[in-house]
Amino acid sequence: MYVDKSKIEEIKNRVDIVDLVSEYLTLKKAGRNFTGLCPFHQEKTPSFSVNRDKQIFYCFGCGEGGNVITFLMKIADKTFPEAIEYLAEKTGVVLPPMSSGKEGRQKDSLKDGIINLNLKAAQQFSRNLASPAGTAARKYLQNRGIAEEIIKQFRLGYVPDTWRSLTDYIENNGFSMKLAEQAGLVIAGKEGSFYDRFRGRLIFPIENVFGEIVAFGGRILEKGEPKYLNSPESPVYIKGKNLYGLNKAKEEIRKRGFALIVEGYFDLISLWNAGICNVVATLGTALTREHIELLRRYTVDVVALFDPDEAGIKALDRSLELFLSTQMRARALILPGGDDPDDYVRKFGKEKMEELISRSQPLSDYYIENVLGRGKTFEDKRDMIKTAMEFIDKISDKKEKDLFIKRIAEKTGINEELLIKETYKNAPQGEQKGGKTKQPVNINNDVVELHLIQLMLEYPQKIIQVENENILDYFLQPELQNLAKKIIDAYKLLGFIDIGVILSANENASLRERIFQSMMKALPADDTMLEKIFTDNVRQIKRKCYKEQHRQIKLKLSKAQENGNEDLLNKLLYEKENILMKEKELN
Ligand SMILES: [Zn+2]
Repeated sequence: MYVDKSKIEEIKNRVDIVDLVSEYLTLKKAGRNFTGLCPFHQEKTPSFSVNRDKQIFYCFGCGEGGNVITFLMKIADKTFPEAIEYLAEKTGVVLPPMSSGKEGRQKDSLKDGIINLNLKAAQQFSRNLASPAGTAARKYLQNRGIAEEIIKQFRLGYVPDTWRSLTDYIENNGFSMKLAEQAGLVIAGKEGSFYDRFRGRLIFPIENVFGEIVAFGGRILEKGEPKYLNSPESPVYIKGKNLYGLNKAKEEIRKRGFALIVEGYFDLISLWNAGICNVVATLGTALTREHIELLRRYTVDVVALFDPDEAGIKALDRSLELFLSTQMRARALILPGGDDPDDYVRKFGKEKMEELISRSQPLSDYYIENVLGRGKTFEDKRDMIKTAMEFIDKISDKKEKDLFIKRIAEKTGINEELLIKETYKNAPQGEQKGGKTKQPVNINNDVVELHLIQLMLEYPQKIIQVENENILDYFLQPELQNLAKKIIDAYKLLGFIDIGVILSANENASLRERIFQSMMKALPADDTMLEKIFTDNVRQIKRKCYKEQHRQIKLKLSKAQENGNEDLLNKLLYEKENILMKEKELN
């Protein structure tokens, strides 16, 4: 793919990395940088830094780093052209038509096609809801007290039970039936005919984090099975990877500092209707790691709703494991009287619901009290230890593990020492204390050469000067010389520098870390300052190089003297003189 480099620069100039990153995770100002919890690895203390002056990000935990484009590629799983297109649209930069690989292009247009068709279908469903055919559906929503505004906001719709309601619409408007089938909107019948997947249902469009409709959910209005029906998976929709409502709730989640996780659309919509908006729904599937990854970009505090029945307890067991292993702080919300959130909030109102939420117990405490139980007899306790041990084994984080053991000991009266001994009896030596030790970062990187690389990355206008003046010839560290060469080559080829791409191709993680770190710290320079910094830097590099040459010659000189090789001696003395002259020129 080739995109005009000036367009890329234009896009980069119009997007602010702090704003863009803030759409995906919560950032706090910390000195000149902004920091937050890294979306690319699991952590409890923020090591993800964003620098507004330089428009770069870097994670000191996992080494992921780059600019707006690289960030978007990573976080939204986009290819380079997709990221450029997305940002162009967002910033209003008009791109000339691009030609990329044929296959990639086709895949993109398939995704785009499905998303467009979904939007059309959603609009048709919502027209149905407003039409006479939608009377019963409207009544249903009215009875549940759902406000008109919420219906609009969530683009609720209706599809009559006629088998061909949407099919006819798609056919009559010349949209592709094949595409509709791939989108999961229609089902192929006999002899090339199609019929509606959703029939006689209230429709909930399912959006991704970008607000694009990727699938639909439908609730049956009359009798019939299943009560809830979702779109099948498609090129734009993978089950267990979407959280219903996240696109709308993310602002509120950030504001309130936690997210409420419920199961179904209606739970979520009822809560919104009641004014509780920091909610997401898992859409019937059990909570997945992907759900949590998605959510933890916005918060690490969640309140998860569970039924007190056996299925609910099982779900709680599984989720607790996930929350612990992903280092989320989870609380369990159990509604009294077997109510679901929809019932509860309609019966008792927002305040009562909020009160329950605020009183919700840490999930691990709930688990210990209600799943492990309070054994009285020796046998009870033995069973408890066994169940607890099985569970503790699944917790990967050492700190979490120990905390959990402590809690179990407190709540059940089982001796803490005993639990610890049991837990670690099979662990290999050394793993017991401290967990992983960090690799030593201390490699012999040359500070001044490193600085030049940093300048090249930050001020690409200097790259050609570096090449023209053959400054790389003065580099003493082959690794850094290589990296600098790569930067020059990339710049000559593309006309711009993508620091993320260049540095991610570099396997030396500690080198990458040092470069990002110094870039994060360095103050932005104006032209005059830059000129001075650059000249100083080049001078230092050269001086260091001459010094090294000096040292080498000195060694050779003493050898030549030992051997009485006078020709060589003269030659070396001449070289030495030369270097001295060059060194003088530097000052
Ligand atoms: Zn990270």
